[in-house]
Amino acid sequence: MTQTSVQTTHYVPADLPTSIRHFIGGEFVDSVGGETFDVLDPVSNQTYATAAAGQQADIARAVAAAKDAFDNGPWPRMLPRARARVLHAIADAVEAQDARLAELETFDTGLPITQALGQAQRAAENFRFFADLIVAQVDDTYKVPGRQINYVNRKPVGVAGLITPWNTPFMLESWKLAPALASGCTVVLKPAEFTPLSASLWAEIFRTAGVPDGVFNLVNGIGEEAGDALVKHPDVPLISFTGETTTGQTIYRNCAANLKGISMELGGKSPAVVFADADLDAAIDSTLFGVFSLNGERCTASSRILVERSIYDDFCARYAARAQSIVVGDPHDPKTEVGALVHPDHYAKVMSYVEIGKTEGLLLAGGGRPEGLTEGNYVSPTVFADVAPTARIFQEEIFGPVVAITPFETDAEALALANGVKYGLAAYIWTTNLVRAHNFAQAVDAGMVWLNSHNVRDLRTPFGGVKASGLGHEGGYRSIDFYTDSQAVHITLAPVHTPRFGGN
Ligand code: NAD
Repeated sequence: MTQTSVQTTHYVPADLPTSIRHFIGGEFVDSVGGETFDVLDPVSNQTYATAAAGQQADIARAVAAAKDAFDNGPWPRMLPRARARVLHAIADAVEAQDARLAELETFDTGLPITQALGQAQRAAENFRFFADLIVAQVDDTYKVPGRQINYVNRKPVGVAGLITPWNTPFMLESWKLAPALASGCTVVLKPAEFTPLSASLWAEIFRTAGVPDGVFNLVNGIGEEAGDALVKHPDVPLISFTGETTTGQTIYRNCAANLKGISMELGGKSPAVVFADADLDAAIDSTLFGVFSLNGERCTASSRILVERSIYDDFCARYAARAQSIVVGDPHDPKTEVGALVHPDHYAKVMSYVEIGKTEGLLLAGGGRPEGLTEGNYVSPTVFADVAPTARIFQEEIFGPVVAITPFETDAEALALANGVKYGLAAYIWTTNLVRAHNFAQAVDAGMVWLNSHNVRDLRTPFGGVKASGLGHEGGYRSIDFYTDSQAVHITLAPVHTPRFGGN
């Protein structure tokens, strides 16, 4: 079974950098020891740049710059309005260059250009949102009449360590940078080693917008080297991490030595549950988009579809026909719907799951490399039906354009299937029965639930997962809570009534 529609050109953006450096204390620098690593583009799998590979010494330098900017610089002490103006200037700059950002992101990640453009615009929105939030922020004051006033003195925590993955890298970096900077923290960002290109653009954007030197620091490098050193550095009191669950577990252990604050957005295997009373056209559109957009490299992908038995055959036939018509090809072509997976290692992992799936389910679409695309990390949108809940493709995160479809008979069985995995990031429920929708939503193990919709969220809402999908929720005020300490200050208004120890 193969894909029918392919785009075969290969676009290379003008003025691609050939070396990607760290940004520390307001300067682009190489690693202290000169270490580098190769960066590939996912369409040719050729090295197009070398990036500085940060080591412990580079992290030490970056943390020292961030600490100095925090202890001695203006950023943590600025009025919220003044910081907000800088954050809006960052958003303006991102919007003004969204096309360039998108073409670089597409080149580095293999994401389809139309989707990369949407991610760049979302990155700008993250900065606008947190700019507005800090200006409007209120904190608690409690009065005990005639005796006491108690208030919350909110303080930025210090140097925030931000560690990000390679899927939608620029947008996910903004998701951490915006609240950390809005809160008055200074930061060290360690972006994913597969996709360092767009992260280096932040340096110029921040400088032009008026972020003081040392507030934003960027160290590229391998997770086990640069990432590990950042996690273990004693002057970094909190780590915000997005990535795989197993990496999150390692980081959690390593944070324990210094009792760091941690926020973890981890993997997912999210169910879309389609009941017989659903609007089937809308459910098919949405569940296709839910797993095949962003190449399926999406933490909230609806990678398991549970379908009520009475509509199962119809759903599977229509779903597979649409999946076979998805346009796969050069990520830069605006007609492309599924591009190239980020890296040959990840491609090999996804392809291995496709082969496992052939032994575990009924292949309805895809199942390998699309015809006509002989190079690059291309995988046909792949649909397996009749997948048992014990199957590996039902249980494990594949993080590619592969979906498992499973039938159910009753609401209770649907809920057991939905909850029968270790993850709990998102769930999507399709039904026109209001009572069933809310009961199911409240019972499902998921940090986020969408009723009759795919993944569209208001930035004020909590974001995060339960079980193996994460620890802590960010989003809206919760992000500001993470990057700040809420110190309680108590003032006595009346004579103090203290038990007089030693006064007889
Ligand atoms: P990953 O865990 O391999 O890497 C993420 C980051 O951690 C990278 O920057 C990496 O260099 C760094 N890292 C690796 N080992 C480290 C260590 N020992 N110490 C410190 N840092 C280390 O994840 P990935 O493959 O880049 O991203 C894909 C994963 O991210 C998927 O599981 C996906 O579901 C998850 N994800 C989750 C969300 C969410 O919000 N829940 C969002 C996007 C992606």
